[in-house]
Amino acid sequence: MSKVAIIGAGLAAVCSARHLRAAGHQVSLFEKSRGLGGRMSTKREDWSHLDLGAQYFTADSNEFREQVAHWCQQGKATRWHFQPYKKFPGVPLQVSPDDCERFVGTPDMNSIVKALACDLDIHVNSRVENLQRLSNGWELSCHNDLRLGGFDWVLVTLPAEQAVTLVADVCELNQTVPATVHLPCWALGLSTRGAVAPDIQGIFGDDIVSWAARQSSKPFRAPPQGADDAWVLHFSPKWTEEHGKETKTDIVDIGMNWLRGALEQEIKLHKHILHFWRYANISPQRFNKPYFVDETHQLALVGSWCAGGKVEGAFKSAEAFVRDFFTR
Ligand SMILES: Cc1cc2nc3c(=O)[nH]c(=O)nc-3n(C[C@H](O)[C@H](O)[C@H](O)COP(=O)(O)OP(=O)(O)OC[C@H]3O[C@@H](n4cnc5c(N)ncnc54)[C@H](O)[C@@H]3O)c2cc1C
Repeated sequence: MSKVAIIGAGLAAVCSARHLRAAGHQVSLFEKSRGLGGRMSTKREDWSHLDLGAQYFTADSNEFREQVAHWCQQGKATRWHFQPYKKFPGVPLQVSPDDCERFVGTPDMNSIVKALACDLDIHVNSRVENLQRLSNGWELSCHNDLRLGGFDWVLVTLPAEQAVTLVADVCELNQTVPATVHLPCWALGLSTRGAVAPDIQGIFGDDIVSWAARQSSKPFRAPPQGADDAWVLHFSPKWTEEHGKETKTDIVDIGMNWLRGALEQEIKLHKHILHFWRYANISPQRFNKPYFVDETHQLALVGSWCAGGKVEGAFKSAEAFVRDFFTR
């Protein structure tokens, strides 16, 4: 039996933890936030719950399809049926049908991670700031003075850029990981007043807003308090790079006007929330394996970015790493 520390509590972390525990290992997770789910996050405002990160997920591989079917049976996920719309310049929204099967966590996107995390040993509000290799294994130090040691293995499930910073002094994995893997994204959650045609649920956008989801049309979502609809808009990577975290630009105003323009109707803003994701979309790159590992020091980088990004990547990376190193 190994004692394993997992840094992060997103999907890659909890999937790794469950596989490791099933294989008889002892696992502890350390998460910097107070909530679980990472980039499958749901912000619970009193006027609406908003999936500000991943909007939906797809399942390409047989393994992930089986997993998603299982989550659906357990009521942790369900299919989101809708025909997407597409915004083209100067013309009304066009229906853009496809045969993509889209799934969401229920009742919130982070419900899947929360369910998988139940009964795991998780330390929240624990940002790991330092790793040290001692004679009896790894020791982790957190910002809240939590210091725990004696781990045989450490799995770092952070976005690549954060992972390499954390491990830079203790191994050479940072030399094999590209310096930039992710692109940023401004996310804007809105509630609006004004009736909108019910079939408009998801819009593929343009160079400003690349995606708009009618949050309130996702399955099992409660309607917003005091408004007709809730929306999440994701600004494009390019636009977000041009209007970084410190921007003075009125993103809410730009988002509302974009939505009014796309819908070609007057809707009124009720409430809003803004979130800057520094690590959102992945710039396309392929790696030899869906994880990075330093076998000598028993340290691994696991996460969606190692396996094509997206929710499915988080699952694949975790599964491949545990299979290759703990159950072979
Ligand atoms: C805006 C946006 C839109 C997206 N849209 C989609 C989509 O529609 N479909 C799709 O499939 N995917 C989408 N994704 C991608 C998907 O959300 C991610 O690929 C996936 O959730 C990543 O899971 P993970 O476990 O690898 O990493 P994360 O979910 O990032 O988990 C890492 C965890 O580590 C924690 N952490 C960070 N630093 C520390 C530290 N020092 N100590 C302790 N904990 C730490 C973080 O708080 C986080 O909880 C989107 C992502 C974003 C941001």
